[in-house]
Amino acid sequence: MKRRGIVFVVSAPSGAGKTTLVEQLVGDMSDMVRSRSYTSRKPRPNERHQVDYCFISEQQFKEMAAEGLFVEWAEVFGNFYGTSVADVEAQLTAGVDVVLVIDVQGADQVRESGFEVVTIFVLPPSMAVLRERLSSRAETDGEVTDVSHRLDAAKREVEASGRYDYILVNDEYQSCLERLRSIVIGSRAKVQFMETQRSSIVATFRMQSELEVEK
Ligand code: 5GP
Repeated sequence: MKRRGIVFVVSAPSGAGKTTLVEQLVGDMSDMVRSRSYTSRKPRPNERHQVDYCFISEQQFKEMAAEGLFVEWAEVFGNFYGTSVADVEAQLTAGVDVVLVIDVQGADQVRESGFEVVTIFVLPPSMAVLRERLSSRAETDGEVTDVSHRLDAAKREVEASGRYDYILVNDEYQSCLERLRSIVIGSRAKVQFMETQRSSIVATFRMQSELEVEK
């Protein structure tokens, strides 16, 4: 019998490196996918519909939210983002872990959703390092990123990091990725996530003892 998948939530301020880490993680691990969110944000030039996000109108988003189709949703930087409950459920039933890269408001809702969830917050080593990363990204992407606006948001987000199960300080990329993998491997071994396999192994012992009693 297949195990049921686990929901992993990864949150971090913009510029802390969460996207790169999660892309690499799901590329390396078996039975793990990244959830594709729905958003009312317009696609950036390098983004593709149904690859990076499902891009929908604000009207469509609000209708989906009203119908209860999202396990969580939030307004971030003036746009709406949400995770489809049906998409997540389909993966979990197939025995696949799902990683949600979502903001802190979304993480609060997933904790209350009834899904088995492991939450991870990626912290930059300091505010100065985050400012530096955001500034150089704004230059290289040519993206009109309001660095001070993102830093203000980061100040609020890091305050929520104490509510997460794990903290990853993204000081050095490879070491951070290793720690992220370790969290996933360790979480998969927790008793509540091993129940299917555990009970079927224990059943073989029970059957053996019953046969011995009959002898
Ligand atoms: P971006 O527009 O730069 O791709 O994402 C902006 C922010 O929205 C990021 O902090 C990201 O984690 C968050 N986000 C992306 N998808 C979702 C989602 O489905 N739900 C929530 N709550 N936040 C999301």
